[in-house]
Amino acid sequence: MAHLTLKDINKIYPNGFHAVHDFNLEIERGEFIVFVGPSGCGKSTTLRMIAGLENISKGDFLIEGKRANELGPRERGVAMVFQSYALYPQMSVYDNLAFGLTLQGVDEDVIDEKVRKTAKILGLTDYLDRMPRALSGGQRQRVAVGRAIIRKVEIFLMDEPLSNLDAKQRVTMRSEITQIHRETGATTIYVTHDQTEAMTMADRIVVMKDGYVQQIGTPRELYFDPVNVFVAGFIGEPPMNFLRGIVENGALKFGEVEFDLSKKLQERTAEYEGKEIIFGFRPEGIQLGEKENAYTVPCSVELTEMLGDNTNVYVDIADKKAILKVDPHDTPEIDTEITFSIPYTEVYLFDGETEKRI
Ligand code: ATP
Repeated sequence: MAHLTLKDINKIYPNGFHAVHDFNLEIERGEFIVFVGPSGCGKSTTLRMIAGLENISKGDFLIEGKRANELGPRERGVAMVFQSYALYPQMSVYDNLAFGLTLQGVDEDVIDEKVRKTAKILGLTDYLDRMPRALSGGQRQRVAVGRAIIRKVEIFLMDEPLSNLDAKQRVTMRSEITQIHRETGATTIYVTHDQTEAMTMADRIVVMKDGYVQQIGTPRELYFDPVNVFVAGFIGEPPMNFLRGIVENGALKFGEVEFDLSKKLQERTAEYEGKEIIFGFRPEGIQLGEKENAYTVPCSVELTEMLGDNTNVYVDIADKKAILKVDPHDTPEIDTEITFSIPYTEVYLFDGETEKRI
């Protein structure tokens, strides 16, 4: 386990592209951190700088309080699992797992014990004699994880390790990786573009966009207290609904729908008079029908998707689109008019210009 510090870390590639801007983060010993964000936001670049595979253009990277910018990957005590899990195709699962230790000249009996223990943790005991081509994608990925955890490392880095797996395997491996983390206790940094992976696995999540950190927090903090439109829209599935409009007489109006902002903004409503504001609410934050202490919203139902445990209802609110999540027993008919309520406590307001939460 290691304590890591990233202080004003920047990456400027040789072609001049500034991929990561002033990244700051303290990672506690044994923490499971997830970097999440859309393609190209700088997640892998940051991870590779931590791994020592990419040099740090500006800023300090500390392991246990000591500057580590100049250390090579081996000296940092990291193990890494990549998206393409490149196993040695001509070696059995056993030899793939043993390879790193063999190179280090570790005693054969010790290697055997470690290989068997790792295989047991990962459910690979029956496959030790198999060649990688005779394994499923999920089993290959387990071998790749096994190769990383077999060496006792302080820092475990994973870059989209589940992206080549099908949906079911991803769910299984997700809980296995969380379990392995609990058992090994290694400080772990995990990169993904999948918000569900981030939400289910992380102690804390770092949300990135265009090379900038948007917010760092626990899954709960990001879900209930997003700092801007990007984070609010990225965390949660289906995403938060956003209705953009100009504040007039302290209210946002869409056709016959009126949101009296004083209910939410109170004395600050005047500041936003004549300005653009973004009104956000989560699909699961609503209730059907009229309720107290809530905005009442008439809308028309355009489409419904029954998913079993809930139904997604696609609605039109005076030409603005939104998704509502309702109990499947309450699924409305398509092309009907319904009314739903958004409790004041479920409303998120954002500045139309800066897109920051207000
Ligand atoms: P993905 O999920 O697609 O892997 P990412 O968030 O991990 O995305 P990075 O791989 O870190 O993104 O890339 C961040 C940005 O830096 C991208 O715009 C990418 O094109 C750019 N980039 C990556 N490697 C280089 C390089 N060697 N030279 C110049 N630019 C690069």
